[in-house]
Amino acid sequence: MAKYLQHCSFCGRPENELRILLAGITGFICDECVEHAYGMIKERTDAEKGNKFSFTKDELPRPKEIKAFLDQYVIGQDEAKRYLSVSVYNHYKRLMQKDSNDDVEIEKSNIIMVGQTGTGKTLLAKTIARLLRVPFSIVDATVLTEAGYVGEDIESILTRLLQVSDYDVKATERGIVFIDEIDKIARKSDNPSITRDVSGEGVQQGLLKLLEGSVVNVPPQGGRKHPEQKMIPVDTKNILFICGGAFDGIEKKIAQRMNTQVIGYTSIQRTANIDRNNLMQYIAPQDLKAFGLIPEIVGRLPILTYLEPLDRTALRAILTEPKNAIIKQYIKMFAMDDIDLTIDDEVLDYIVDKAIEYKLGARGLRSITEDIMIDAMFELPSSGKNKLCVDLEYAKSKIETSAKLRSA
Ligand code: ADP
Repeated sequence: MAKYLQHCSFCGRPENELRILLAGITGFICDECVEHAYGMIKERTDAEKGNKFSFTKDELPRPKEIKAFLDQYVIGQDEAKRYLSVSVYNHYKRLMQKDSNDDVEIEKSNIIMVGQTGTGKTLLAKTIARLLRVPFSIVDATVLTEAGYVGEDIESILTRLLQVSDYDVKATERGIVFIDEIDKIARKSDNPSITRDVSGEGVQQGLLKLLEGSVVNVPPQGGRKHPEQKMIPVDTKNILFICGGAFDGIEKKIAQRMNTQVIGYTSIQRTANIDRNNLMQYIAPQDLKAFGLIPEIVGRLPILTYLEPLDRTALRAILTEPKNAIIKQYIKMFAMDDIDLTIDDEVLDYIVDKAIEYKLGARGLRSITEDIMIDAMFELPSSGKNKLCVDLEYAKSKIETSAKLRSA
């Protein structure tokens, strides 16, 4: 008598055609149907995860809205904000372009921001990250060295991005990376050494691969690659890179270029129009080359913008105006101890003066304010007082004692 065959309750195939048939209480399922079901579940889960990192076309903030958002946190730097807003907006457009069926492919435009330290490059990048729904990470180019030397491999730039996307490679491949201190990997033109340039050109060549878009093997834990570590392949084609650097001394290169350019009979008129106090505004790709970035890298950073040095008015505004301005933070900290903090306007001007005197720029504002407030922050919470007025005399006395202690 022929044996009765069980069938998969989903696809209906008999058990002799199947590798595995699982029995349930009232039916059966074969291995292929299990696999198919698993695929559907995974797709749905991935799509749900992806939502954390995507906008619909209607939700997408327009460049003006992106800039308005940046304005709430970053003082001045209009030029850089405009460039950044447009680039990020275009980044989203590129991510959406799969819907179109013509041959026009929007290429990515990585960005480079040049400006003195403490003018807000990292702040701009961090602020834009708050608004984005793509994974975002900040890395420092100074830790990078060529493979085989002490330091981190280029691919580790992407480790952080993988980590913030919970190792979801698809999400990582849509992300944005801010590479700080890019100028530190410039070729030192005054280095006559013919041996390998550990931190210079080799690193730039490595970085070029990432900027151009290629599949690279990323160490999931960062640091140096080692043979036992399992690498994660990541395609950088759609990752937007924003680079920042101080490029100390680049003004000289700009001046040189402008002087040589303006030779000719219109030179007197042209040089007269040049604002010599802020040469940075004339920065051009060839200045980055003159500084020591290889031409291929410069070519892969087509959007070049600059940040202005912060003047007295900007520094004063930074203290109180941004959404999370330094002074607002102190007021909040004291309020948590039910202490009402007021700081006289003269004190704010004094903090700005000191920041300029110490040549610390915006970075100095925080440490100077900290020096003024530290004693009060130590004493007041256990004093039972509920009010603190910081006047000029108080501020001066704190700064003078802390300056004395430091120089002692
Ligand atoms: P950079 O990356 O250009 O060296 P940062 O963005 O790290 O400088 O700036 C250091 C600090 O100075 C920031 O945390 C911020 O408090 C302040 N700061 C600098 N520039 C600005 C600005 N334009 N607007 C508001 N705050 C600023």
